[in-house]
Amino acid sequence: MRLSRRSRTRLALLAVLAAGFASALWLGLVPQRFSPFAPLNLDEPASWFLDFRLASLNADARHCAAVIASPLIDASPITDQPITKGCGWQNGVRMSAAGGVKLTTDKITCGMAAALSMWLAHEVRPAAAHYLKSDIKSVRHMGVYACRNILGSPSLKSFRSQHATANAIDIESFALADGRTISVLKNWKGSGNEAQFLRAIHERACRYFRVALGPDYNAAHANHFHFDRGAFKRCR
Ligand SMILES: [Zn+2]
Repeated sequence: MRLSRRSRTRLALLAVLAAGFASALWLGLVPQRFSPFAPLNLDEPASWFLDFRLASLNADARHCAAVIASPLIDASPITDQPITKGCGWQNGVRMSAAGGVKLTTDKITCGMAAALSMWLAHEVRPAAAHYLKSDIKSVRHMGVYACRNILGSPSLKSFRSQHATANAIDIESFALADGRTISVLKNWKGSGNEAQFLRAIHERACRYFRVALGPDYNAAHANHFHFDRGAFKRCR
């Protein structure tokens, strides 16, 4: 079958529009009310189009407010800081608990807060029960917002980090209910239960974050997991 020139033009135009819409979803530019996908429910461990639905939280304050009403998260919206010279935030929250465990930060994007809640509730706490026979009490991190470029990679050092828009977190350690502390620096290596726990939760983080880097990525990450929800995808 040969398509007429007019049909080929229409098909090309449709393809361009579809690609444009998919890119806008990927970048979190489409508010939930215009998205074909249902609002996010933090209680569901893995849902269809989870990545797009998490991305829309950074563009849609009403969707964010509905999601952070979940008992799985303790957070409240903060005032936007318009992005200037690559730094600032939009649809940020102040958070004191995620996934039912203590995790405090004065600013983090709504998409990151929701992703952390889901990862902690559906992956980290079950993994702690399985590998460590305990529950997670709190999570310690090394920072969320920092107006700076990417560190530790010479080829990327002229680009703004996702930390510059409060869209990233560096996780250092986990305090358990039985009093132990599991740290990325001390417990990543080896084959013990602690190392198996850390490797399992790092691998499963890729479901919720677009970038999930750990000690195997480079020396700059020897003591923490870096998670972000930027435009790129990398898990290592
Ligand atoms: Zn980081």
